[in-house]
Amino acid sequence: MTTQRDHERLYNPGPVEVRREILEAQTAWMIGHRGKAFADLYARLQGPLMRSFGGGPAHRVYIYTSSGSGIWESASRCAVRDDQPILHLVNGAFSERWAEVSKANGKQVDVIEVPWGQAVTAEMVAERLRARHYDAVAVTYNETSTGVLGPLPEIAEVVRHYPDTLLLVDAVSCWLGTEIEAEKWGIDLALASSQKAFALPPGIAFGAVSDRLLVRASEIPFRGYYFDVLTLEQHHLKNNTPATPPISLMFAAERQFRDIEAEGYTARYDRHRALAARTREWAVSRGFELFSAEGYHSPTVTTLKNTRGIDFAAMKAFLSARKMMVGSGYGKIKNETFRIAHMGDVQPEHMEELFAALDEFLGM
Ligand SMILES: *Cc1c(COP(=O)(O)O)cnc(C)c1O
Repeated sequence: MTTQRDHERLYNPGPVEVRREILEAQTAWMIGHRGKAFADLYARLQGPLMRSFGGGPAHRVYIYTSSGSGIWESASRCAVRDDQPILHLVNGAFSERWAEVSKANGKQVDVIEVPWGQAVTAEMVAERLRARHYDAVAVTYNETSTGVLGPLPEIAEVVRHYPDTLLLVDAVSCWLGTEIEAEKWGIDLALASSQKAFALPPGIAFGAVSDRLLVRASEIPFRGYYFDVLTLEQHHLKNNTPATPPISLMFAAERQFRDIEAEGYTARYDRHRALAARTREWAVSRGFELFSAEGYHSPTVTTLKNTRGIDFAAMKAFLSARKMMVGSGYGKIKNETFRIAHMGDVQPEHMEELFAALDEFLGM
């Protein structure tokens, strides 16, 4: 199979393929970030940002000039007092790293850890919350290393019984690939970055933050500077940011939201679920096992066990010659798994093109 493409199509879980129109939206003339044009742009982005996170009257969405990891630090520092613990749910490389970020910021960290490929359940969380107070529970909704989407709505229901326990959610690799309901589920901080299912270049991140989190932050004397939510809030009220924002990426975000809202959120999520189901069907029919436990398969990324004993380097070279790229395994399962992302603006025909190439490589 030949292709006329001038670049490699990315089927890895971030950065994902970005459409030409979105790349080009970044080339608009620069504006000053203390002027009216910028405040208007900032204000226009709030609507779709709030809708995409399911924010309610008690939420706002901050724009962070960083990748998603920056908001990990914002969450850990601003939601947790130094003399109170935070509970991290750990089931893969990213959830593990967020717990490390809390520790690096001097917080008392407890974890619920389950084997990679599994999900932490609401019952496990309920048991821990009955035993002691936590200032916050930190959940990685979609664990990108293992392809596991956890039972966040059920976990959120448990946490809602504890009004002094905030719910922090890493939605980096599923925001705009599946429903996030910040208000309905009672999420105090939902964080995401641009280069996953939003299908923008990297360099901008978004945090949907509740009033409760701002109250908690006001009880914490040292919240740092760059990621302090109270500073972000002061500027948010004026439709701007404390430091110079990634203006070109905001142009791209506005353009991308226009297309996303034209497709419709539900249609977008249904498309992701359909692509995920098709990817699992292809993989299993070719003799690969899914790494994620039944019932928790991610809508945005599928992690496969190398049950066929294929040579990953040869597979990547084969795909590269056809201008395609899938994701390697990540963290401690790097050598036994590989990952196929189906997030962002990817369409069924793009997946079929990948599967056809993989079939050719497998000699099927
Ligand atoms: C990619 C990813 C991150 C890290 O986000 P960056 O934008 O690369 O900082 C964090 N959590 C999850 C679940 C991810 O997939």
